[in-house]
Amino acid sequence: MKVIRTEAEWKPIWTAIFKEDKSLGFVPTMGALHQGHLDLVAKSTAAMDFTVVSIFVNPTQFNSSEDFQKYPQTLEADLALLESAGADFVFVPSVATLYPQPTYLRFDFGNLEQVLEGEFRPGHFNGVGLVVAKLFHIIQPTCAFFGQKDLQQVAVIKRLVQDLSFGLSIEVVPTRREKDGLAMSSRNQRLSPAERQQAVLLYSQLLLAKERLLAGEPWSMVLADTKLAFSTAANCQLEYFALLHPETFKIFDTFRTDRPQSICIAAFVGQVRLIDNLPIIA
Ligand code: AMP
Repeated sequence: MKVIRTEAEWKPIWTAIFKEDKSLGFVPTMGALHQGHLDLVAKSTAAMDFTVVSIFVNPTQFNSSEDFQKYPQTLEADLALLESAGADFVFVPSVATLYPQPTYLRFDFGNLEQVLEGEFRPGHFNGVGLVVAKLFHIIQPTCAFFGQKDLQQVAVIKRLVQDLSFGLSIEVVPTRREKDGLAMSSRNQRLSPAERQQAVLLYSQLLLAKERLLAGEPWSMVLADTKLAFSTAANCQLEYFALLHPETFKIFDTFRTDRPQSICIAAFVGQVRLIDNLPIIA
């Protein structure tokens, strides 16, 4: 496994791969890797001739400087995990490499940036769009792999790829969970033992909502009870719990069985903001 730090180091490798007509899978990450990330790497190594993983904590996608400062960084452990997962290359650029000068370009992802993560984290998707566009231009993969855990991010990336005609495909990989159902996330490392136990509330409320909706209960009642469950839980603060179309992110106020629908949730557990989602009708 080779660690690459600059575009100049990457170019001859890319040229050799494509001269041989080989496929290249790309897994962008912010490091502090866990099994969820490794699932993406496994998908890529199974389907592609070569796999490159990037590790870059992207400053432009954090709308809270505290969240950015506290984002876990575990490069040595990450490299060991990627080596045993069979990654061929790891791209670890510096901030100066990806942002040699201030950026002025602004993306407009339409309704995707007006709701949920877009609404609660202003500027977040602009930062995601910037860094992913830069990485796609540098890496030039055949296929890029993203987690369903960040469902709205998947919709944003697909729009980016379509609107800017990046000639690459996007693969979406199911959410990897802990035994109790908590979606794996680098941010889970910041939870205290007590908060870690409370954090399961996000997934348990998603499961309960799915069961109730499929049993015919109205969305308004399910939503009201979820808000109540969070308001009475110690240390937990619900930001949103929304029923929506998993691709367009149109928000629904009623549940129907004849259209794709997912529920997305964001909540603070202590000081840590967590997100999750569950398909109700695929
Ligand atoms: P991050 O390092 O959090 O930016 O995530 C990098 C990639 O891993 C993104 O495509 C995420 O959606 C994906 N990912 C993060 N957590 C999980 C998980 N628990 N299961 C599957 N994919 C995940």
